[in-house]
Amino acid sequence: MFETVTPPEPDKIIRLMGMFAADPRPDKVDLGVGVYRSPDGRTPVMAAVKAAERGIWERQETKGYVSLSGDPGYLDAMRRLILGDAVPAARVAACGTPGGTGAVRQVLETVRRLRPEATVWISDPTWPNHPAIIDHLGQARRTYRYYDPETGGLDRDGMLADLAEAKAGDLILLHGCCHNPTGADLTRADWQAVADLCARTGAIPFVDTAYQGFGDGIEADAAGVRLLAATLPEVLIAASCSKNFGLYRERVGAVLIMTDAKAAADGVLAGMNRQNYAFPPDHGARVVQDILSDAGLEAQWRAELDEMRTVMQGNRAALAAALREATGSDRFGYLGAHRGMFSLIGARPEQVDILRETHGIYLVGDGRMNVAGLTPGVIPRVARALAEVLA
Ligand code: PMP
Repeated sequence: MFETVTPPEPDKIIRLMGMFAADPRPDKVDLGVGVYRSPDGRTPVMAAVKAAERGIWERQETKGYVSLSGDPGYLDAMRRLILGDAVPAARVAACGTPGGTGAVRQVLETVRRLRPEATVWISDPTWPNHPAIIDHLGQARRTYRYYDPETGGLDRDGMLADLAEAKAGDLILLHGCCHNPTGADLTRADWQAVADLCARTGAIPFVDTAYQGFGDGIEADAAGVRLLAATLPEVLIAASCSKNFGLYRERVGAVLIMTDAKAAADGVLAGMNRQNYAFPPDHGARVVQDILSDAGLEAQWRAELDEMRTVMQGNRAALAAALREATGSDRFGYLGAHRGMFSLIGARPEQVDILRETHGIYLVGDGRMNVAGLTPGVIPRVARALAEVLA
């Protein structure tokens, strides 16, 4: 069956992880893969997660199946975390998924089933798995302008001009915060403009939120999606707990759908889970549920998340300052203004190759840098290499 098959191109980030692992240089620097690293270079298990896991180990008495949509307590905790009190619970359908990727896939597959003619609008650029999943499902897609490389900020006019062409029922895929890969986010006024556009055109926002808490804080990072949810009849959300709970490999995610037809939407989502994998993974979801339903654990988790955000902002500020010194210009000043793990540094693919081959600095081919991969000790060397190669 496989003799004549050409396998798909390996994911470029996964290929980069393999190259980094095989590189024998002791001073190599991984700014590629999107995981958080503490200043000592580790991706630690959060203490609140450890405590919740201990509680599960002590108290859990069965590994019997839960339900096709996951534990209702988990889904309710995710609804409160992401939406606060922006929408009544009676308007929110939900299901648990394996990670944020699973949530993106379930949303898109649901839309393909219910609205096969819908076009999915994605930002240029976006996380590569967005177009990959859309293409795999055979959906129509178009890109909208998003990033202005001159300023390192949002191309607001370009974005709104392109999205004005969206038709009723089309999906507009937005990043809730900490845009991957650009690091450039929407302001409150931009979110409002998108809400107005959706109200006018009948296009449906689909918000992928994978970094809540990595930008300006849990509440601030959800402000955009809450604004949409409070004003529009239908909003779709794919959420990930990989980063903000550090639960990457446990695969914890959720779909939330704002609708006046909650019961029907819940049924569709449960059916979609059954078709694809039946029950979503439970362990990581239970960790999240237990943390968010215990005031002490939640406070501990929030403090740890604040610390992670502070480290990333510190790395950004330090790198921007080192680059100012190395280049004698403010060309990279936007790195300090961006939020989250990622920014584009404006490198061409051959410059990314030189950074990797000559300097042992690993970036994704589009020049995406994970600022969490920086540590205070390597920042001066990284700044000098960037200044030299991007001169
Ligand atoms: N959406 C975006 C924009 C992401 O960057 C990621 C993480 N790379 C995800 C979704 C999903 O991540 P996961 O499946 O690991 O939860």
